[in-house]
Amino acid sequence: MDDTLAVGTAIAEPGERADGWIEATDLPTGGTERLPVIVVNGAADGPVLWVTGGVHGDEATGVAVAQDAAASVDDASAELAGAVVSVPVVNPAGLRRTERTSYYGGDDPNRYFPDTERGDSRPPETQERIDARLFDLLAESADLLVDCHTAQAGSMPFTIRDRVLYGQERTETEAAALAADLDRLASALDLPVLTEYPAEEYVEQSLQRSTAGAALNTAGIPAVTAELGGHRVVEEDARTAGVAGIVAAAVEFGLLDSPPAGVADAGDGVPDAPVEYAVRRSVGPRVEEAGLVRHRVAVGDTVDAGEVVAEVVTPHGDVVEAVESERDGYVIARSEGLAAYEGQAVASMAVRDDGDVVVPRDAAEE
Ligand SMILES: [Zn+2]
Repeated sequence: MDDTLAVGTAIAEPGERADGWIEATDLPTGGTERLPVIVVNGAADGPVLWVTGGVHGDEATGVAVAQDAAASVDDASAELAGAVVSVPVVNPAGLRRTERTSYYGGDDPNRYFPDTERGDSRPPETQERIDARLFDLLAESADLLVDCHTAQAGSMPFTIRDRVLYGQERTETEAAALAADLDRLASALDLPVLTEYPAEEYVEQSLQRSTAGAALNTAGIPAVTAELGGHRVVEEDARTAGVAGIVAAAVEFGLLDSPPAGVADAGDGVPDAPVEYAVRRSVGPRVEEAGLVRHRVAVGDTVDAGEVVAEVVTPHGDVVEAVESERDGYVIARSEGLAAYEGQAVASMAVRDDGDVVVPRDAAEE
C-alpha cells in the first residue's frame, strides 16, 4: 500500500481519517450525484478493507454499520495496519425515497457491477455506469470487501458467501485459494453463513454482478454480503453485530491486533445458526393455491424436509394448502403480507447445501 490513500476526494495520509465524495453522475437539474466516502488510513501498511452500504436505498442498518465501522476503526487508527474505506450510501437516489432501487432506470443497482466474462450488446445504462465508477475505485485499492444489506422484516442477521466461479478469469486452483480466503472473511463476521443460490441460479439472477459478486468473481477480492436484519429502520442489535463483525474481520486479516474499546464481540446479541451442516440461501417454499398465509414457524426454527411451514386459508378461514419445506434447514425470515398468489414464497430459508462453492463458470451458465 502506498503511504497516502486517496479515494474520490478523500485523501488520507498515514494515521489520518479523510472524508470526501465519489462523483457518480451529473444530474439533469444541475449538480452531481455523489457517494460519501470515508478513508481511515493506518499508521502502518497492511490490507485495505472496503465496507459498502446502502446499495439498496431502504436498507437503513447497512448504512449505519458502514458509518460506524469506519468510526470504530478510526478510534484505533494508531494501531491500524492497512486502511478501511467506507462508502455508506452507494445508492443516494434510493435513499432519498426510502426505496430499494435508484430512479435512473428502476432496476436493482446491485445487479449492474462489471462482469468481464459477459458480452454486452448495448451501451451501459446510467446505473451501470455509476456502478462501474465505484467498482473501478474498489478494484484499485481493495483487498477485502464487506457489503452491508438488510433482508426482510424480522429477518435474522446472516452472511452470504458467493459461489466462486472459474474459467476465463481464474483457474480452478486459483478459485479454490480465493474460496479459502472468502471462508475466512465470512467466518470472521461470526453470523450464520449461507452460501448463495446454486450455481445456475446464481448466474441466472446476475449475482456475479452484485457488489460482492463482482468484487469476488471479476476482481478476485474476498467479498461477502452481510444481511443485517430488516429494512427501513436502523435495528440496534443488528447494527452492533455488523460493526463487531467488520472489526473482527479487520482483526482476522491483521489490520488490528484486537477490537477497539467499546466494540462488541462478533456475534454477540444475535442468534447463532441452529444447525451444524452447510446451508445455502433459498427463497421458499412457495404456495400453489392463492389465499391468505398463516405461518406455522418462527424465525430461527429448524425445519425438516416435508414439514409444514405455513398454511394457506380462504377468506373464510378454511385451509386450502399446507406449504411444506422441500429441504432440511432453518427459517431466516417469513414473507411479509397476508395475501399470497400462486408461486409466491412464504419464507426465506437456509437449506442444506450439498453443492460446490467453487464451480466452473460454463456449468453455471448451462
Ligand atoms: Zn440489499
